[in-house]
Amino acid sequence: MPGAESMIEELRSGVLARDRRALAKSITLLESQHPDHQAKARELLDSLLPHAGRSLRIGVTGNPGAGKSTLIERFGLALIARGHRVAVLAIDPSSSLHGGSILGDKTRMEQLSVHPAAFIRPSPSGGSLGGVASRTREAMLLCEAAGFDVLIVETMGVGQSEGVVASMTDVFVLLHLPNSGDELQAMKKGVLELADFVLVNKSDLDRVAAERAERQIADTLHFLQPVEPAWRPEVYTISALTGDGIDKLWSRILVYRETLQSTGKWDKKRRNQALTWMWQIVDEALHARFHSNAAVQAQLASIAEHVSNGAISAHVAATRLLTLFDSD
Ligand code: GDP
Repeated sequence: MPGAESMIEELRSGVLARDRRALAKSITLLESQHPDHQAKARELLDSLLPHAGRSLRIGVTGNPGAGKSTLIERFGLALIARGHRVAVLAIDPSSSLHGGSILGDKTRMEQLSVHPAAFIRPSPSGGSLGGVASRTREAMLLCEAAGFDVLIVETMGVGQSEGVVASMTDVFVLLHLPNSGDELQAMKKGVLELADFVLVNKSDLDRVAAERAERQIADTLHFLQPVEPAWRPEVYTISALTGDGIDKLWSRILVYRETLQSTGKWDKKRRNQALTWMWQIVDEALHARFHSNAAVQAQLASIAEHVSNGAISAHVAATRLLTLFDSD
């Protein structure tokens, strides 16, 4: 179809010319569930892939109210002032539940959202965490092809989304409030384990409390196995509101990158992430094929019934279903 060809070519050249409208349209195409759109999106993505991969990918997480959007606004503008181009994407599977997105309300990043050197995209709404994550990953590649050299992927801790964001970014930043020790104890250890940087925000409100939290977190981090053996996670206080500590964050991220690059860990991490992603796609496709398989569908309900009433074991049932799948 010549129309489709020219549409893809138009989007492709628009993205490469750093046209934000073409980028937004391309991401919309990626997010479409329509099989025809999906085929086109794949073609577009493949053609842009050689231009992707050259950005610094930063994951940011923190509970609602921790100050993520205030930080990203400040940090993003500071990076733009240094000549960078900044794209902000979000992973928020709960956006399908409340109909909005953590980034849906653009006023959250008032200046950044209108800046010509920035691109802000809310989380794709609907679907499983896996689906949202995979579309976000692809959107990241498009942003890179459009010349954005710093990508920020934001998530608020819902349904394992931190792990997903950590698995697609180079550096992972956890934003924390100067909570009491008890709350610190309650903080999910799993999230702390993923962090390369922990920032205790709102230090302008109560410096003493912020420094106490900083020490407590440093103590906790000390006993955790760092995600990246070449890097000891760092913690310090910041104020996203006043901008205090924002420059330090960037300079430490650059040190982090240098440290990993000089030990060959940077590329290795990205290669491992690409492989993990490949396996995720395979797993999801197999899962979908299994569930849409006619032979499986015909017997699934009755086999499941037999398992739940104890007539057959889960193992026997699973083997039976897999045999049906294989033989179809
Ligand atoms: P998010 O839900 O994590 O995105 O948090 P927001 O960035 O929306 O911040 C929640 C509230 O905290 C807003 O009213 C911000 O103005 C405020 N806030 C964020 N960072 C700071 C800070 O460093 N100091 C102070 N005093 N307030 C802050």
